[in-house]
Amino acid sequence: GLQLHWHRRDLRVTDNPALAGDDRLLPVFVHDPAIFTYGAPPVVAFLLDALDSLREQYRERGGELLLARGDPRAVLPDLAAACDADTVTWNRDYSGLAGERDRAVAAALADAGVSVDVERSGGTLLHEPEQVTTNDGSHHSDFSDFWREWRNREKAGPVAAPVRGDVVDPRDSLDEEWLGEASETAGALPSLADLGFDDPEADVQPAGTDVAYDLLDDFREDTIYRYGDDREYPARESTSRLSPHLKFGTIGVRTVWQATEDAAAAASNGDARESVEAFRRRLAWREFYAHVLDARPDVVTENYREYPDEIRWRDDPEGLRAWKDGETGYPLVDAGMRQLRAEAWVHNRVRMVAASFLTKDLLIDWREGYDWYRRKLVDHDTAHAAGGWQWAASTGANAQPDFRVLDPTTQAEEYDPDGEYVREHVPELRDAPTDAIHEWPTLDDETRAAIAPDYPAPIVELGEYRDRAIGAFEAARGDG
Ligand code: FAD
Repeated sequence: GLQLHWHRRDLRVTDNPALAGDDRLLPVFVHDPAIFTYGAPPVVAFLLDALDSLREQYRERGGELLLARGDPRAVLPDLAAACDADTVTWNRDYSGLAGERDRAVAAALADAGVSVDVERSGGTLLHEPEQVTTNDGSHHSDFSDFWREWRNREKAGPVAAPVRGDVVDPRDSLDEEWLGEASETAGALPSLADLGFDDPEADVQPAGTDVAYDLLDDFREDTIYRYGDDREYPARESTSRLSPHLKFGTIGVRTVWQATEDAAAAASNGDARESVEAFRRRLAWREFYAHVLDARPDVVTENYREYPDEIRWRDDPEGLRAWKDGETGYPLVDAGMRQLRAEAWVHNRVRMVAASFLTKDLLIDWREGYDWYRRKLVDHDTAHAAGGWQWAASTGANAQPDFRVLDPTTQAEEYDPDGEYVREHVPELRDAPTDAIHEWPTLDDETRAAIAPDYPAPIVELGEYRDRAIGAFEAARGDG
């Protein structure tokens, strides 16, 4: 038989459970202009790079990645008929939009008499939403409970890639007309400009499975053992940088888990094993937020947690602009916002601090922040973005029961004690003494002018604005 596999967020051939069948395989990526309206330059640049690498992986196996364009509800049934496919396969996705699209495509294929097989295990997550639930079968809203259960479940290992000969060349199965329509197949991939995007302002990290394996190998051999101690310190570069790869599936999550098994087996002591465990916990956060999104597709735009009254977010265009441009006068926040524009990636601790600053100190709606990160991050992912933003805004699953504001000054003293990260991303402060960096918001104007004349004074005064945020949330809770 012939299997038509629809690649979406699984841009790899190795460790892709949907490709582990016995049928001959014809892979396709469908460029759907409707989905691309949610795209942004860094994400699309990474995607195109990943497609290029995926196509290479198929060519090495004597095949070719078919590139089609249009609405998958129309394209896939047509294509399945044209190549006489027996089944159409894809890996499950978890957002509301993806769910609607997949149901519509499955229905269209059923109408056309083509069978559909959706891989529900290991394509994107180690454990599916149905496998890790509370006693009454609903999703966990508390991460600690989730983690305990998720961690205790047995995890399957990676699956082998299809070999040469299993993959067919679309030119053998499809006539000229189809190949002509899907004219990108043999030629160059579309460019960002072809797709209507500007070049990203950031230097976007390279995509592709080989790159992801290199990152993972380095991490497994070395960095994972200091992850436990170093992960919260942005200057120590102790995280894996795998986020865009996990987002687009250029590497399989089972492969990443296997690397943690290998690292744990090679660990020389308890501390090293705990460090591996700390990393696994992050992989669990990723699945926790995917399960939340699966159960509550509205979290992308609506508060997860209901407040009796509305939270009265402020309308503050100038504050929002300063935050986006990294000109708030809070060095750690600004360093993060500038790293975002320079690298399309930001360290997790700094994402949290910058998100807390926007939603609590400026009291600006988390959706504004979500939208900016969506346009600038290479790893933008609806599940984790909604999870991270709503956590910071105290509206999400697992939000602290008591209201928290991350103080950007004490966070900087704790996690960037020498000001190294700030100096790297905020050139105006490169020559400033460390104390002046930490105390910047409380220095007087004259001292500031003497130390870093081009770096802005703080746009808000913390104590005062903290009270404002606390008041707004008390009012929303109905006890203000
Ligand atoms: P590592 O520390 O090496 O972690 C390994 C993997 O675990 C990551 O690649 C990621 O897939 C997952 N992971 C780690 N931390 C988290 C977390 N807190 N939540 C969910 N998954 C996690 N991550 C995204 O992938 N896309 C986003 O759009 C995104 N938006 C965020 C927005 C806010 C406001 C916050 C606070 C966090 C956001 N995160 C997002 C989570 C986290 O910051 C990144 O996953 C992490 O910084 C990626 O770097 P890394 O691959 O080196 O992480």
